[in-house]
Amino acid sequence: MLILGAGFGGLELATTLSEAFGADIDVLLIDENDAFVFGYSKLDVMFGRTTLDAVRLPYRDLAKPGVRFLQETITSIDPEARRVSTTTGTHEADVLVVALGADYDLDATPGLAEAGNEFYSVAGAQRLAGLLPSFTEGRAIVGVCGAPFKCPPAPSEAALLLHDDLSARGVRADCEITFVIPFGTPVPPSPETSQALVEAFAERDIRFVPGHRVASLDGERSVAVLDDGGELPFDLFLGVPKHRAPDVVIASGMTEDGYIPVSSQTLETRYPGVYAVGDVATVGVPKAGVFAEGAARVVARALIAGRQRGDEPGAYDGRGSCYIEFGGGGVGRVDVDFLGGPRPTGTFNAPSAALVAEKKHFGSSRRERWFGR
Ligand SMILES: Cc1cc2nc3c(=O)[nH]c(=O)nc-3n(C[C@H](O)[C@H](O)[C@H](O)COP(=O)(O)OP(=O)(O)OC[C@H]3O[C@@H](n4cnc5c(N)ncnc54)[C@H](O)[C@@H]3O)c2cc1C
Repeated sequence: MLILGAGFGGLELATTLSEAFGADIDVLLIDENDAFVFGYSKLDVMFGRTTLDAVRLPYRDLAKPGVRFLQETITSIDPEARRVSTTTGTHEADVLVVALGADYDLDATPGLAEAGNEFYSVAGAQRLAGLLPSFTEGRAIVGVCGAPFKCPPAPSEAALLLHDDLSARGVRADCEITFVIPFGTPVPPSPETSQALVEAFAERDIRFVPGHRVASLDGERSVAVLDDGGELPFDLFLGVPKHRAPDVVIASGMTEDGYIPVSSQTLETRYPGVYAVGDVATVGVPKAGVFAEGAARVVARALIAGRQRGDEPGAYDGRGSCYIEFGGGGVGRVDVDFLGGPRPTGTFNAPSAALVAEKKHFGSSRRERWFGR
C-alpha cells in the first residue's frame, strides 16, 4: 500500500497499520521532506521560543515494522491505476492514500511575496525569526488572505504572541497590532472561545478586523488592501497565504473546488481503493492536524477490518481538540465537533497550567508514537 505524504495523516496511518500488522504489511510512505515539523512549532520558531533544529523530527528515525520511508517528490498521481511517479521512479499499490496536505498560493495575493511575509511555512517562520527582532516601531498586521486555512486559531495566536514579543523587547508602546480575519469571529464554531480571544485582543490593544480577508498588498504605499477595497497601512505584514491542494493533486484530476472530495464517513474518494485524509480532502472539518489524524485512524480501522474480516469500523466523527496560545504562557483548548449535529459546535476550556502540560504532552506523545523519541 502507498501513503503519499508523511504529515499528521500519513504518519498516524503508517503507525497504526504497523502496530496492527507488523512486518506482515508492506507500506510505502513517501514524502519530499527529510523531517516533520508540527504546525504549532512554526509559531515557536518565528518568535524565537525555540530553534528549527530543536523541532525537526527526521524521517530517518522512523523505524516501524512493515513501513518503508522514501524521500521522493511525487510528480504525478494516476488514481485509476493507483500508480504514482516520483522524481526517482514509479510505484503502484492495491490501496493508495493521499495525505499530501495543503500548499500555499502566494501569487493569489498580489504583493504578498514582495511586500509581506508569511509565517505558515517552516521557511517563512524561520525567515521571520531573523526579521522580527529588527521591528521596533510602526504598524504590524497579522492578516489572513483566504479561507479555508490551516488551524483556524493560529492567526489569533500569532497576534497575541506578537504582543508578547514586542512587550518583552520593551517596544510595544511604539507599535500597533491589527488582526484581519475573513470570519466574523476568531473561532466560529465556539462563541465562548471567540469571546475569550476578542477580550484578550482588547486587553492588549490589538485592533480586531473580522469579516475581511487581505486581497493584496501595495508595497509602494505600504498598505494592505482588503476584499472590500478598504486599506490598512503597515510597516510589517505577517500573512496567512491562500491555501490550495498541491499542484500534483490538482493535476491528477481528483479535486473539485480545489480539494479532493471524499465520503465524510469513510474518507474514500470516487476512485476504488483510493482514500484522501487531512488537509488535502474536503470532509467538512477544519484543516488541522488532529482532524488529519482522526481521519487516518478511520482509514486504518477499515483496512485492518478488511484484512482481518472484522466488524465494519465506525464512521469518521469529525471531532477534535485544538490548543490555543493566549500569550503570557497561557494555553486554552477548544473541543470541536463538526459532524455530530446540524452545525459545528465548540466548547471552550480557559487557559490553565493543566492545559500547558496537556499541549506539551500532545506533542511529546506523537513524537514518541511516530518517531520513537
Ligand atoms: C502556524 C500553524 C499552527 C498550527 N497549529 C496546529 C495545532 O496546534 N494543532 C493542530 O492540530 N494543527 C495545527 N496546525 C495545522 C496542521 O499543521 C495541519 O493541519 C496538518 O499538518 C495537516 O496534516 P496533513 O497530514 O493533512 O498534511 P501535512 O502535515 O501538511 O503533510 C503533508 C505532507 O505531504 C508532503 N508533500 C506535499 N507535496 C508533496 C509532493 N509533491 N511529493 C512528496 N511529498 C509531498 C509534505 O512535505 C508534507 O510532509 C497548524 C498549522 C500551522 C501552519
